[in-house]
Amino acid sequence: MLNQTMLYETKVLESRQKIVRIELHNLRNIPITPPPYRDLPKTEGALLLEVETSDGIVGWSTSGYTHHVVVDLINKYIAPRIIEQGADPFRTERIPMLFDRHTYERPLGRALISALAMIDIACWDIKGKTLGKPVHHLLGGARDRVPVYVTHGAAYDGAPVYTAKELAAEAKHLADLGVTHLKNTVGRQAVPDPYDDYNRMAAMREAVGPNVRLSMDGNLRMSLPDAVKLCTLCEELDISFIEEPIHYNEPANLAHLRSRTSIRVAAAENEKFSAKDLLCAGAIDILQPNVNNDGGFTAGLRSANLARAFNVALGHGNGNGPHNIALHAGVANGGLVEYHFHKWMAYNAIFKEVPQPDEGYLNVSQEPGLGLEPKDGLIQEFKVS
Ligand SMILES: [Mg+2]
Repeated sequence: MLNQTMLYETKVLESRQKIVRIELHNLRNIPITPPPYRDLPKTEGALLLEVETSDGIVGWSTSGYTHHVVVDLINKYIAPRIIEQGADPFRTERIPMLFDRHTYERPLGRALISALAMIDIACWDIKGKTLGKPVHHLLGGARDRVPVYVTHGAAYDGAPVYTAKELAAEAKHLADLGVTHLKNTVGRQAVPDPYDDYNRMAAMREAVGPNVRLSMDGNLRMSLPDAVKLCTLCEELDISFIEEPIHYNEPANLAHLRSRTSIRVAAAENEKFSAKDLLCAGAIDILQPNVNNDGGFTAGLRSANLARAFNVALGHGNGNGPHNIALHAGVANGGLVEYHFHKWMAYNAIFKEVPQPDEGYLNVSQEPGLGLEPKDGLIQEFKVS
């Protein structure tokens, strides 16, 4: 006779889903809306991952790292092994272990971690669809809307760097549309020039007035002395945070910068330094994991808990806002999510429903899963491999 535990185990076994199909769509030349005062960029590419289970449930994800090596990694290495093993999409801690039982002890590089992040995100989409719950509820369900800031002024496709006048005009335009917090890139000159960047930030401050928050993103381009100089010059401009100002996110250098400025320092983990290195070094005020690059929601939860343990804010700074919303809505210490103008236009072009800023907030999808379903016919039209 079956006891309670055996009955439960039988039920679990019967209901167990397997991943039966993984298809990576390499999409190129998808038309997007260019920035307010520029003609470029007009198109964007994306890697769109489709994962189907034995119950016919389909999960979707995209990558923040669109290098072609990810295509081969998924198609030739990751997908065949997951399907051969009949992996259960609910066991998101187990899936990376199919590739290296020491995965989290021996970092295997950004490409593999990004590829596994795509699998993880699609699995969380499947978990939500299976249970009829939005992913942010599965992650804790702390809130149903998250604060947002808008990043603009990044030149793409060989377009020239924005002038101070262009930046100011675009900032004013976005502020007039109701944007409450703007971020702009700094250090983009051939040789980073703190004085030029100060002039650009000062022009933006003058254009938007004192009631719009301003932040800066260095994209790892500056030396420590240049970052210190820029922050010193910008103290008077009331800057909310500076993101990844220094080469490699070197923790000792970020800690030094932090000791020299009142501007909050933000950075994410990367292939060289982990969230733990940044936190232990006292290098940051805001930890900014990207679920699309850094191991999915499974790893995002670990980063959120690390930030909480160190009493450091959790934030976000990359082009995958529509996916990262679920983490920030899910965990108690979730924070500001980035609306990266160019990348968000790509999300708008790819998915049927994408949350949009409304008076400084994004409302989180309440659909089962992530609520990010690709538009009909998009894959057929833009798939190149
Ligand atoms: Mg950034």
